Parts: sequence; structure tokens; C-alpha cells
Amino acid sequence: MNDFGNRPPRQKYDVSALGITCADCGQAINELPFNPTKRDDGTFGRLYCGDCNRKRYQNRDRSSGGGGGFRRGY
Ligand SMILES: [Zn+2]
Repeated sequence: MNDFGNRPPRQKYDVSALGITCADCGQAINELPFNPTKRDDGTFGRLYCGDCNRKRYQNRDRSSGGGGGFRRGY
């Protein structure tokens, strides 16, 4: 019944061999909290490093209600 206690705090996937770079700052991403899947076009889509992920999450929280231009340049 109580599964929460068995779960590891945070699983990291080693993606350093995939050559993924952050879509925001361009920094190489060595690990992700999830396993990225390759798309049909051969890319992994837009991925962000830990710093930018946190920044984006905070910005999103602060500017909730707008939503314009979130997918710019895609
Ligand atoms: Zn970044």
C-alpha cells in the first residue's frame, strides 16, 4: 500500500553519450531526470539543463496568465 518509501529520491539518466545541449544556454547536458526519446527527425526535441529548467519553471510560475510566445522559433 505504501509505495512512496521505496522510491529513490531522484533518478538520473546518463545522456552524456548523446551529445545533447541545452536549448536555452547551449551548455552540454550530461544527465536528465528522464530518459529522452529520439524523434523522427533525429533530434531529441528541446531539452534544457538543470539550471534552465529551474529558471523556466520559476518564470512560468511568475508570469502565469500570459502564455504568448512560449513556443517561439520552433
Ligand atoms: Zn541551460
